[in-house]
Amino acid sequence: MGSDQKQFEEQKRRVYLFVLPIIAASLALNLLITEDIRLVQLIKFVLLIAIIGCWGLLWTRWPLIVAEILILGVSLVYLLAAILSSLFVHMLEQGQLQLGNFILYVPFIVVLSFLILERKQAVMACFTLLLLMIAPAIPVWGSLASSQVHSLITLYVSLFVYTFLAYFLHILYRRRAEQRAIARFAYIDALTGAANRYRIDEWLAEKVEKADREGTDFSIILFDMDHFKRVNDEHGHKTGDDVLRQMADLVRSELGPGDLFGRWGGEEFIIITNEEIPGAMELAERLREAIGSHDFGKAGNVTASFGVAGELPGDTPERLLNRADERMYHSKRTGRNRVTGETAAE
Ligand code: GH3
Ligand code: MG
Ligand code: MG
Repeated sequence: MGSDQKQFEEQKRRVYLFVLPIIAASLALNLLITEDIRLVQLIKFVLLIAIIGCWGLLWTRWPLIVAEILILGVSLVYLLAAILSSLFVHMLEQGQLQLGNFILYVPFIVVLSFLILERKQAVMACFTLLLLMIAPAIPVWGSLASSQVHSLITLYVSLFVYTFLAYFLHILYRRRAEQRAIARFAYIDALTGAANRYRIDEWLAEKVEKADREGTDFSIILFDMDHFKRVNDEHGHKTGDDVLRQMADLVRSELGPGDLFGRWGGEEFIIITNEEIPGAMELAERLREAIGSHDFGKAGNVTASFGVAGELPGDTPERLLNRADERMYHSKRTGRNRVTGETAAE
């Protein structure tokens, strides 16, 4: 099971643990104050026991699906028993004009079905319930009073409408979740989890614009892994990938809350920080130290070369990047594994 799925199930479990006691309490109250025929009372009692039992199963961390199917099954049986007793006992025998209060629980069963089952299965479960509710009324339809017919039709239509509503809501939310996921991954580099080039371009444009408008300061740090071709050649591309992944984790652990981290391309990365040059130099030095002293396993020690540039009035992202790039290459030329904030030529 994927970790997302596990997280989702854990969330669901917590919701059930919270909601089930509320449902159990309202059911217990209902058992105490409403009169029903024995069979329905018995089924309500069984439902109550099942809900309490499910809560126990969830609490003791049984698989979620066991508790879910149990609750769904017992709820369906309860609704069916309720309509049968309402139809044959309350309406036909006792002449009641309307179905009982149980119809208020129809939305609950629809929500439950969509929560537990796949979309198609949920629709099938709801429509099966609908058919099972319509079928017993057909033979006695002729002997029902018009208000009784009206009440039944209201039940059928509401179940139908709730099912359709749930169906479309389900599609809508699934689509929105997918769009969000796509948007998220469109911005992220799959190997390192850092922002990709596209996102960095957006960040830089926003930052420069904000700096122009509000006079805020920020700096960028570019760095490139040293002799990375050698890492690949000596230990294989997969080890190279592992180094990049570990390095990204390492960098993230050193960054502050406002710092942005992206993969500029290949084994070259960028950090955008709200610090001015001195703070950015310190951060770059910390990163250089952290990377250089880290044991990358098979690849052993790996270093990186840094170039730092602070945003100047009137800068464009391109000019800023060029300055950082020149300084980074200055670090390369002057021995690698170092930070440059200003070159001698400047
Ligand atoms: P320098 O210190 O001058 O930067 O030396 P270098 O070997 O790092 O030089 P260069 O920039 O020419 O080489 C970068 C290498 O990084 C080449 C490329 O195969 C490797 N590389 C780029 N992206 C990846 C990646 O995602 N995974 C792996 N394993 N290697 C990568
Ligand atoms: Mg390199
Ligand atoms: Mg490079």
